[in-house]
Amino acid sequence: MSDAALLDGCNADYAAPAGSTQRDSRPVLRERGQREVFCGLTGIIWLHRKMQDAFFLVVGSRTCAHLLQSAAGVMIFAEPRFATAIMEERDLAGMADAQDELDRVVTRLLERRPDIKTLFLVGSCPSEVIKLDLAKAAQRLGAQYMPRVRILNYTGSGIETTFTQGEDTCLAAMVPVMPASDPQAAKQLLIVGSLPDIVEDQFLRLFAELGIANVGVLPPRNSRDLPSIGANTRYLLAQPFLAETAMALEDRGARRIEAMFPFGAEGTADWLAAAAREFGVSDAQIERVLAPGRDRAGKALGKLRSELAGKRISFLPDSQLEVPLARFLQNELGMELVEVGTPYLHRAHLARELAHFGDAVRLSEGQHVERQLDRVRADRPDITVCGLGLANPLENEGFTTKWAIELVFSPIHGFDQAADLAELFARPLRRRDRLEV
Ligand code: SF4
Repeated sequence: MSDAALLDGCNADYAAPAGSTQRDSRPVLRERGQREVFCGLTGIIWLHRKMQDAFFLVVGSRTCAHLLQSAAGVMIFAEPRFATAIMEERDLAGMADAQDELDRVVTRLLERRPDIKTLFLVGSCPSEVIKLDLAKAAQRLGAQYMPRVRILNYTGSGIETTFTQGEDTCLAAMVPVMPASDPQAAKQLLIVGSLPDIVEDQFLRLFAELGIANVGVLPPRNSRDLPSIGANTRYLLAQPFLAETAMALEDRGARRIEAMFPFGAEGTADWLAAAAREFGVSDAQIERVLAPGRDRAGKALGKLRSELAGKRISFLPDSQLEVPLARFLQNELGMELVEVGTPYLHRAHLARELAHFGDAVRLSEGQHVERQLDRVRADRPDITVCGLGLANPLENEGFTTKWAIELVFSPIHGFDQAADLAELFARPLRRRDRLEV
């Protein structure tokens, strides 16, 4: 089948979540085929750092345990906060045995670790795990250990989730246990998406300067300090990969604030200003608070613009950060977008980002790795953003690459990180130029 035959003008299986009004109708190359991405278990690496009193127990296989170990790097913990309960093949003989085994593992863990306040049972894709009803297990064990420990479950399975979607399924699992807000209370702001503490603190300071007092974050640093939620909640997505969480929040009555994502000076200003307008902050006050950070970021980016302007970039689908990052690189650094591929294109959440893309930008959703590599070979971009598994083969063929995973693990949101974000793209190009001299 030709690529043209796959062009699809409307994303037919996407149902716009309540409250979304804009839809972008540009053609999207939709692909289904072999994927080269990490599964959602990877999210545990940043989620366990964020929620210091939570423990992630993956119910999985030795492969899952190895993935976590290698994704986490060599880390020596006095008290680790994630582990894998390995379901051996013998468990296939009887699911009752497997449930008992899981109960024993959880009991042992919670007896040894009184510091754990929330335990996440994380599902994976081996068949013996799929047969286990982890939701029931979480309910059964939760009834036993509440109020000391809350037990929740979500899936990080490679069949259901890619890379960043593990955070989405984890946060979505927390939404039903958020306390209900007082319907008479004033509007409250909820920032949704895991951010490094330093970045979160910067944003909280800016919201305070804007005069928005009641601000909650999901996930919170202490997993049991969940902010309240209700019809008076307005939520602002800090990450573009939280479709399921957004739906769960809307089910609890919250409404999304339409905004760009906070990457670069422009995206960060738009994100903060959209929330400020929702809370009735005057334009003059918004300008007064945002101008210093925006100007600082603009100046820092100016130094990198000459290096990156005119450089052609392709994104292979990986983290779902692709669309807002592409907008940032195009608008603020003058890069030329060749292809922007993303595992899942949420048109409503990305509407304000997509509006900046010219007609020549090829948008693709999903993955067919062979076709995508063929297009990279034909396009010959200056830099290709891709997963670890594709970077080395592409470098061998003479392409310059950037690992998508680095973008997820680095602090890249906000005014003060804008130049660091641009630097992540400038560095491989500099290295290439040095090698070519
Ligand atoms: Fe592999 Fe599935 Fe385990 Fe992920 S969840 S490591 S894809 S077996």
